[in-house]
Amino acid sequence: MSALDSMCRTAIYVLLFAVLAASGAFAAPGKATDRVHHKAAATRARHAQRAHHTLTARGKRQSTATHLRVQDRARGTHRRAHRRGLHARRQEVSLRLPRAGMSTPLRGSLESLERQNTRLDAEGLERIEDEADLEDRIAHNQLVAVPVSNGLAVNPDLPAAHRYCRPWTARFLADLAQAHEAAFHRPLEVSSAVRTVEYQKHLMQINGNAAPAEGDIASPHLTGATVDLAKKGLSRAEIAWMREHLLELQTAGKIDVEEEFRQACFHITVYKEYAPSLAGDGPAAPATSQQNAAPAAVANAQGL
Ligand SMILES: [Zn+2]
Repeated sequence: MSALDSMCRTAIYVLLFAVLAASGAFAAPGKATDRVHHKAAATRARHAQRAHHTLTARGKRQSTATHLRVQDRARGTHRRAHRRGLHARRQEVSLRLPRAGMSTPLRGSLESLERQNTRLDAEGLERIEDEADLEDRIAHNQLVAVPVSNGLAVNPDLPAAHRYCRPWTARFLADLAQAHEAAFHRPLEVSSAVRTVEYQKHLMQINGNAAPAEGDIASPHLTGATVDLAKKGLSRAEIAWMREHLLELQTAGKIDVEEEFRQACFHITVYKEYAPSLAGDGPAAPATSQQNAAPAAVANAQGL
């Protein structure tokens, strides 16, 4: 081997080494680039993840907000529908202006008015035609005075001749007023009692809300079995007490009640069943028996 050969071989090795070294040197930046790429990818991934979380959170928030809005809207719609339903029901069952917060059974209705008339007819109660008819029935004890007491007053505007009712209605008034007074220490007030057909026709002329004087939905006041108790001046607790008491008696079939809002009263028709002992048909009971049955009523009748 010549020296030249040896030098050439060395040069080739050097070149080879240089090439290898160079490829290694190129490889290093490549790795660095990869690292940069990886780093960038990791950053992007983190950002993407963060963005995802943010979006998800926002999405969740939005979704929750949307859900709540939908719920609210649903509730609103439900409330409105409920109100509309109540309103429709009220319009359907009440002849007069109703208000919320009471149970339906005491609301006035055509059905209730017809029921009162049907039942009063079945009890054989005639309508009182005029003042002469009224006086005659009072004289025969078919009608007794509203039993005024510490627990029961009469609207001062009510004509003296109209402060009368059927004996069993007087008993009901006395019982109710006594129980009310025991609970609240103040009187109830009768705002209307017996009416004559003649007077009811007059009421119809001056009050568009007055019931007819004749027919199936004639005013039950014409029989003397019905009274109105004023709501004016009663506290919420007293009104609640009245509703509870009256509903119980209505459920027992002893009375029919229409809670009126325009005229603010409880319109109550009392049936003979409330006090059968006072409802003897045929000739009027003697005065002594009336006194035993409804002393306050008779006392007041004598006082008028
Ligand atoms: Zn009435």
